[in-house]
Amino acid sequence: MLADRTRTHCPYCSLQCGIVLTARTRPVTLQPQLDFPTNRGGLCSKGWNAATLLDHPQRLLHPLVRTVPGDRASAFRPASWTEALAAIVDGITATQAKYGRDAVGCFGGGGLTNEQAYAFGKFARVVLRTAMIDYNGRFCMSSAATASNRAFGIDRGLPFPLADIAETKAILLVGSNPAATMPPAMQYFDAGRAAGATHIVVDPRRTATAAGADLHLQPVPGTDLALANGLLHLAIREGLVDEEYVAARTSGFAAVRDGVASYWPDRVERITGVPVESMIAAVRALAEAESAMILTARGAEQHSAGTDTAQAFINLALALGLPGRPCSGYGTITGQGNGQGGREHGQKADQLPGYRKLADPEHRAHVAKVWGIDPTELPKPGLSAYEMLDRMGTDGGVRALLVLASNIAVSAPDVNRVRDRLAALDLLVVSDLFLSETAELADVVLPAAQWAEEEGTMTNLEGRVIRRKRALPPPEGVLDDLQLLKALADGLGRGAYLSADPAEMFAELRRASAGGIADYAGISWERIEATDGVFWPCPSEDHPGTPRLFAGGFPTRDGRARFIRVDYTAPAETPDARFPYVLTTGRLMAHYQSGTQTRRALSPAQARQEQAHQEQARQEQATGEPEAQLHPDLARSLGVQHTDLVELRSRRGTATFRASVNDDIRPDTVFVPFHWGGASAANNLTNPVLDRHSKMPAFKACAVDVARIGNS
Ligand code: SF4
Repeated sequence: MLADRTRTHCPYCSLQCGIVLTARTRPVTLQPQLDFPTNRGGLCSKGWNAATLLDHPQRLLHPLVRTVPGDRASAFRPASWTEALAAIVDGITATQAKYGRDAVGCFGGGGLTNEQAYAFGKFARVVLRTAMIDYNGRFCMSSAATASNRAFGIDRGLPFPLADIAETKAILLVGSNPAATMPPAMQYFDAGRAAGATHIVVDPRRTATAAGADLHLQPVPGTDLALANGLLHLAIREGLVDEEYVAARTSGFAAVRDGVASYWPDRVERITGVPVESMIAAVRALAEAESAMILTARGAEQHSAGTDTAQAFINLALALGLPGRPCSGYGTITGQGNGQGGREHGQKADQLPGYRKLADPEHRAHVAKVWGIDPTELPKPGLSAYEMLDRMGTDGGVRALLVLASNIAVSAPDVNRVRDRLAALDLLVVSDLFLSETAELADVVLPAAQWAEEEGTMTNLEGRVIRRKRALPPPEGVLDDLQLLKALADGLGRGAYLSADPAEMFAELRRASAGGIADYAGISWERIEATDGVFWPCPSEDHPGTPRLFAGGFPTRDGRARFIRVDYTAPAETPDARFPYVLTTGRLMAHYQSGTQTRRALSPAQARQEQAHQEQARQEQATGEPEAQLHPDLARSLGVQHTDLVELRSRRGTATFRASVNDDIRPDTVFVPFHWGGASAANNLTNPVLDRHSKMPAFKACAVDVARIGNS
């Protein structure tokens, strides 16, 4: 029996704003939860419009297969689930018989619930027995996660509740624009500033967040590592290091101190473009405040040296004595709705549930026991997301791919190459809500249930585990991804290892994570519902959960946080005579990720109109047009005027945008959003070079040329 009013959460970003859905009448309506701690009554336009997708006319309502099997140039035709599942099972069986188990790959998403992410990891390792599984979070959080694990022995986006942001006295926010990406979170930043806190934003663009800060540092994209080392150099020079904290709670400072000795302020100014006076003001504000935070996000992390960049900011935070202090520390702002939980439960190529490591014999033994298999049956760590995509269809590469909750034909770097690799597969299966750009390339497309039709849990940017609740059943013919995985496991003869019941999967996840870093053993659905969520680690049912980490030490072998020396290297691709400008990419307020959902999400009034008239063209128009942001000096030198059409060209491809000319960006930099595919895909241009530690692609800096192509 479904309730008239269901307390659940927005399907989009990691803030996981609390909402109340009313599903008694159609269309479904929603309101923000006034008392949920992350949004406290706020929602952004994405959240307000989220329910319009439930009855969207383009929604997939039955499986699709090709009219000529194996010929992706042939049209799709509707198929029954029986037919579609049989085609997938036959394809997987034939592929593994011909090429081996690792020839079948799985690609997951940070939008899956914890239960789905857990089941997908188990499906890959136990049902398919393939090493090849990774997920789109590799493109999102992996650099900061790697750096945090190296320094603290744990990776939780924010090691403190969001509310601490309102209490801290100084914030250095690097490569993040929450005013556009998660506006309800700004209430915490605004409250802090109103109470006298100093906010410093590092961003090549004067974003809405930067415009509201006390100090805006505007570096060349890809030079944040030099900036962080320069700030630490200044902290040492000015006697601002917390020597007592460093001696008592950390290791490795001497090597880092020696390493940053060469980051003279004027050298750092030459590399980054940030004036020395601004650097001095920033480091003094952080060091002299009674409490302070350093927060990074994708702008700092999505680089060829993204892990080292996050590490450099962690070094700075440790030198100033911040992690583990009240209302202080280092954190990273997760992007995807379940970006945090998505990387804890086994979707990553090298990880098992509970953040256990696939390469660790003890960790393998624990999870194998919960799964009822011998540890030797578990595969070794597989390839990271882009490595797997890059080798698809080649000798030793994946020949069949199952994609859940991800639109890699838009979101992967150098996406033209990825589309070619997808075309080389023997079998591509995509489960999604709509016919996404990736689904358009598939052999079999499966209609997935939406957020308001699912039960499960999500873990937000604070490490708070919350409930996703079903407000209405999925349309007939639509399955949620747990049901899909169970049906496939049944077809492959190993159905006993999976359940389609999310409560059963969560109970098993708790056992699998017990004793691990991300320990959910004490978290029950009932506990979550009785509170505003439970923070992991929570090892037993009488444990209160852990909103704040590190107060009593770090979960490293010696209990100390580790300084790690990192040196600046220029981005893998820098401007030259052919490609003279830096391209950087990012998000817009109205859109989310590859835009599969938000390009279709309209206000309720617009949606009713669309449903009545079925005018897809108008719908596209209503959801906006991708724009490239250029500084007036650059536009003038190129003969480009505001609203002109411009073509951007990189070593990998071209993309077309409407020019938006304003002085909120560096004159040497061009910004484009990544929410569109096809001719306006930012990732036609981006560089797929990978960070050597995290395997994160360098989405945030590559070299481009720009040319005016018209105005119509
Ligand atoms: Fe909240 Fe994020 Fe949803 Fe916006 S997209 S309503 S900020 S959870």
